[in-house]
Amino acid sequence: MKLDLKKYDLPVALFLILNPLIGFSLFFIYIYFYEVPASIWILFLVMCAATNLSITAGYHRLFAHRSYETNALARFLLLVVGSSAFQGSALKWSSDHRRHHAFIDTDKDPYSIEKGFWFAHMGWLFLKSSVDLEIKAPDLEKDPMVKNQDKYYLVWSILSGFLVPLLIGWLMGAPVAGLIILGSLRIFFTQQSTFFVNSLCHTLGKQTYSKEISARDSVIVAFLTHGEGYHNFHHQFQYDYRNGIKWYHWDPTKWVILVMRVLGWAKKLKTIPQQEILKAKLNAEAKWLENKGYSQEKIEQLKIKILEAQTQFRNLKLEYKLKKDMWKQMSEDKLAELRSNSSDRLTEMRANSTERINEFKHQISELKLQVDELKLRMEKAKVEIKFSMQEWRIYLNNAASFA
Ligand SMILES: [Zn+2]
Ligand SMILES: [Zn+2]
Repeated sequence: MKLDLKKYDLPVALFLILNPLIGFSLFFIYIYFYEVPASIWILFLVMCAATNLSITAGYHRLFAHRSYETNALARFLLLVVGSSAFQGSALKWSSDHRRHHAFIDTDKDPYSIEKGFWFAHMGWLFLKSSVDLEIKAPDLEKDPMVKNQDKYYLVWSILSGFLVPLLIGWLMGAPVAGLIILGSLRIFFTQQSTFFVNSLCHTLGKQTYSKEISARDSVIVAFLTHGEGYHNFHHQFQYDYRNGIKWYHWDPTKWVILVMRVLGWAKKLKTIPQQEILKAKLNAEAKWLENKGYSQEKIEQLKIKILEAQTQFRNLKLEYKLKKDMWKQMSEDKLAELRSNSSDRLTEMRANSTERINEFKHQISELKLQVDELKLRMEKAKVEIKFSMQEWRIYLNNAASFA
């Protein structure tokens, strides 16, 4: 069989093969003769996390999906550290990734899982047909920093990916260990973490929000990918800056974005309304129940019951907050104003102050009654949600046990 070299993207393929090959060989030779300082190992962990997070928070959620906005300094740092990952320029990476979202599981998806686990993981990177796709990201092409990183990508990546590790190693008294461990090995491990997003995230876990696409939610993969493991959610709601929506979901990328917001570096973080997320989850489960032979009418009724209970609870919560604020405002400000002893109104107010105070007291207690009533109604709505969800879960469990 003749090997047709023309179909391979040789520079990319050679880097993917030679970097770990040379890196690991040199590493074993190095540790045979020398000891690696502990500081290098600590820096290795820190730099691995920084490299991956600049891909997930930078390349992925900022550039490819525009799920939040940043200042120039944050963008610059994300681009510099992102370059050190040797995963291409942000422009090219984002363009490929947007294609992946638009054409998921089809022939036009550059790393389609339909072509196998290995192809989606890194096989696609060896082939010109999947790597050399035209760049289509007009919004990003307008960003001069992104454009510059794309144009001079080799310079950006060699400086940040190999030269900086060499320098750091030199500062720690072990320049060669810096180059091998903080350069080559760091690149290998962080590349594998990113590659898992295209392979494992489309293989392992639950299809919570859509069973029609291969993307899956898995906490194990979230650990391996700095939070990208909630991939079914991400494919369904790609503009949300979070992938793990619950506070306890392992999504360090989301936490990094939140820290950037605290620092004043990030703003306009996009989130999908809770109601829409619940609706997608219920729709996916409803379809599954229908496929199991449950009555479409009954499923629809149950689904509507949950959604209505949720909407009612949300509306009551808003009304409760509004009334409570009004009540607080009235109690504090108005009474203080009535009792204030400033200006000419004092005499006038003294004359009828008791009457007015009583009037306000009455209004305030009326409002307080309304607030209490709303609180009760809210509690009731909460119970309604709980019951309707329980009923729904009984259906799901029954269907699962008969599967
Ligand atoms: Zn995907
Ligand atoms: Zn994405």
